[in-house]
Amino acid sequence: MPTAACGINCDVCKLNLLGTCSSCGPGKSLQAEKKLAAQQRLLGDTCSILACANMNRIDYCMRDCNQFPCDNFSAGLYPYSRGFLNMQKRRLQERPPAYAPDGSRVNVAPTHWEDLRQKDINAVCNLTLFTPVTPGQAMFRFLNEDVIIDIENCCLKRKSGEQWVASQDPLLELVTVLYLINVDDIYPMGRDIVGVKDLKEAHFFQGPHALRTDPLLKRYGDDLEGFRQAAEFLAGKSRDMADAAYQLSPYPRVNLYFFLWQGDEEFSPQVSVLLDRPIERVLAADAIWALINRVTTALLEGARK
Ligand code: SF4
Ligand code: SF4
Repeated sequence: MPTAACGINCDVCKLNLLGTCSSCGPGKSLQAEKKLAAQQRLLGDTCSILACANMNRIDYCMRDCNQFPCDNFSAGLYPYSRGFLNMQKRRLQERPPAYAPDGSRVNVAPTHWEDLRQKDINAVCNLTLFTPVTPGQAMFRFLNEDVIIDIENCCLKRKSGEQWVASQDPLLELVTVLYLINVDDIYPMGRDIVGVKDLKEAHFFQGPHALRTDPLLKRYGDDLEGFRQAAEFLAGKSRDMADAAYQLSPYPRVNLYFFLWQGDEEFSPQVSVLLDRPIERVLAADAIWALINRVTTALLEGARK
């Protein structure tokens, strides 16, 4: 494979074309082993980035390692400038943008917040296992973190130091508001677990609305351990199914089930996402799509530094 662990694409380098320099390859590859051996033999030392990626079984630092950009990059002279590394650091700390299937930015309509204000928040909390904080606020556990929905101020809040501060997370905000507006019962969990193709609105999940499983396959298709680490960081519960399977809880009474099968010479890797069928009594297909996407993004982010 042409791309080195650091992200440099050797395939588009003239030094590689001329045979002056061999490809480094991803950290887990045979190419990486060979390159490290060659560096040791010819230079008496190895590239600290390639050696670290190889030792830690990381294919691509920028995509797969939660330590990036680490000291191996910032202390070394190459391959990236300080400006590039600072940009990566800053943008990795930002929450990824939220897009609707048509590519537009997600926003929560003021009328949804108005509908939510009409609800009896204590009754809603009883049904959802959210915790009332004040008459206009309730706290819930999203995967591995506490989040407050502030109905008076129309936002989600996360803890920063000792303060609860407004947090831009439009997909989660939208689905949470819709969930609280619609919930009207305690729905059974874990009894009737199905795929989106088994839901009444199955036709929705096609074309631009297909679940975004490609990035999961790209990241974890041959990295079961990385998938397990990400799911366990998000407080996922392991299930004894597929090559790796986890139950993740975006809300206390809503579960999603992610199944991963590793690829081999014959079969490509596969990901399936299942859910409790009663979710369709609370969320329309577009909100289910948004919720699965939000949890998928959390899995792709992995452990935040
Ligand atoms: S920095 Fe290391 S991994 Fe990247 S191209 Fe150079 S030798 Fe290879
Ligand atoms: S710690 Fe740094 S060099 Fe090592 S795998 Fe992670 S990003 Fe790459």
